[in-house]
Amino acid sequence: MNYHKALMELSHSPAFINRERQHKLAALTTLCAEQLEVERVSVWQFPEQREHIESEWLHTPDGANAKATSLYKSANPEYFSALESERVLSVPDAQEDPRTRAFAPGYLVPRGIRSMLDAPIFDGARLSGVLCLESTTRRQWTLPEISFVIAIADTISLMNTHEAWLDSKQALEYATRYDSLTGLLNINSLRDRVGYLVEKLERRGLGTLALIWVDVDRLKSINDGLGAQVGDNVIEEIGQRLKQINVPGKDLLARIGGDEYALIIRNRTDPDTLEQTASRIRHEVSKPIRLNGHSITVGVSLGICHLPGDCSTTEELLRGAEAAMYNAKHQGRGRFSFFDSSIQVSARSRFELENDLRSAIKEHELDVFYQPITDASGSSVESVEALVRWHHPERGWLSPIEFLDIARGGGLMYALGDCVLRRVCEHWQWARNRQITLPEVSVNLAPEQVLVAELPRRIKTMCAEQDVPVNTLHFEVTEDAIQGDLNAISVLLEELVAAGAQLSIDDFGTGYSSLSRLKGLPFSRIKIDRSFISNIPDDEDDCAIILSILGLAKGLGLSVVAEGVETAAHEQWLRRQGCDYLQGYLYSRPLPFDQLVERFFTSQ
Ligand code: C2E
Ligand code: CA
Ligand code: CA
Repeated sequence: MNYHKALMELSHSPAFINRERQHKLAALTTLCAEQLEVERVSVWQFPEQREHIESEWLHTPDGANAKATSLYKSANPEYFSALESERVLSVPDAQEDPRTRAFAPGYLVPRGIRSMLDAPIFDGARLSGVLCLESTTRRQWTLPEISFVIAIADTISLMNTHEAWLDSKQALEYATRYDSLTGLLNINSLRDRVGYLVEKLERRGLGTLALIWVDVDRLKSINDGLGAQVGDNVIEEIGQRLKQINVPGKDLLARIGGDEYALIIRNRTDPDTLEQTASRIRHEVSKPIRLNGHSITVGVSLGICHLPGDCSTTEELLRGAEAAMYNAKHQGRGRFSFFDSSIQVSARSRFELENDLRSAIKEHELDVFYQPITDASGSSVESVEALVRWHHPERGWLSPIEFLDIARGGGLMYALGDCVLRRVCEHWQWARNRQITLPEVSVNLAPEQVLVAELPRRIKTMCAEQDVPVNTLHFEVTEDAIQGDLNAISVLLEELVAAGAQLSIDDFGTGYSSLSRLKGLPFSRIKIDRSFISNIPDDEDDCAIILSILGLAKGLGLSVVAEGVETAAHEQWLRRQGCDYLQGYLYSRPLPFDQLVERFFTSQ
């Protein structure tokens, strides 16, 4: 029979194969109508819930259209069960046939339909639709006609299966190239693109490349304080802003990690332009984000690395930009930093560092520097803050910013805290043996330490072993650390206080914890984060924030330390506003223990 020949010719022609679904449906239904001389040929689909079918395509003598109509199972259960069970529905008199007559008043009669021939369409093995021939004359369908209709329905089934295959291929492609949260490209795409550009640059020797590494400051405290959903929304919003931002030479933007993005800049990489670009990015990102009734302002730290100049390969460019970003964070949040050879040391593999750090902790090789905290006049040292340092055998002195993230990632924070405390006790004992009186020592506690119920016991034991009274210790805890189970945290903190220690809330103002959480906890001091100090007295917003913190602290009976005091202007303003203690480079940088003792605690 030439029905089948016609179908073969159509379905194998390049004009058919390469067209979209709608064109294919049009061609198939037209062929069917012409060959069998029926007026109406339609393609129907089951939606997800199989309670009705929807027309996807309809061929009529007046032309084709894709207008959707629906037929409901509830209105005609017989038809639907026949569809499920019969290979084909051959219905000479549709208005009388028990399988279709329920459609008569609303569908068949108005359209003058007398007979129907329906063949099922599959998607894989699942019934997914129906091909429907409707004739205005009574017709006894012949076997060749029926087999032709089944062949057309099978062709559509094959299309479905192929499309499903293409979709899954695309989904896979999507997952390997894109970030599902933000829809931005991911690190794989970034690497490929940088690799391609680097190679092109090498071949032609023309042009330049820069990578800007963007890291959101303190996303963790948003997650902890406001929930992971809000954190996700913040990441999405920042992604959108970075996408929309228009800066010279912008090439590709990717999300490369939890709270990190990278932007490739081509050719417009002279320092002035990049500096403007970095400022634009910081400005856009730091506009308030409104979410669930919160207004959230986040800062970002940026690291910039060039090629050629700073490095010559894709990996070096990525690591260089990351290292520069850490350098920027070290300067204080919300800054940017260019890569230079002095920060190259930290651009080695994190894996190596983690191993080295693990053994340094095990061997008690970490050291502690101390920074004085003075009274409001800036003249007398009231206490000192212990700050961890690591003397790496090859890389020299490393600051916490260079290894705390690694310690965190490697689950080493508790052990690191232990190591620091041990060193502080040793120093204290050394001084006492020489009749040198040290003031109270502030020790930073990581969230990972505060989560461990046995921490107070551990501290008491260590102090007892080294004969250091617990009341010489003052612990600094950030807002991040008190986000978990308030009851458990409160019990732990109370135990520390009962043992004689005091507690400060550190980096205050940068977290998002509510005041009500702080109120019930046994803190005696607040430390205002240094990012608020750097722009006083000129920045009105920062001044207002500090004043409100001071007011709040008074109300709660807490004393206040300002950190990051660098200039006489800072000092004057803070003293005038009634800040109790000051800490910063103006008085001293963190010093090795022997220098601290020599400068501040030996009387000549
Ligand atoms: P932090 O607790 O806020 O410590 C103050 C940081 O500010 C120190 O950086 C200090 O060197 C720096 N700083 C002090 N005065 C000034 C100033 O006038 N200007 C500027 N720009 N910076 C100033 P450091 O020592 O690099 O420590 C960074 C952070 O690492 C600390 O911030 C703390 O969060 C963490 N950290 C340090 N030691 C330990 C530790 O033993 N355990 C834990 N868990 N965290 C630690
Ligand atoms: Ca601190
Ligand atoms: Ca601090």
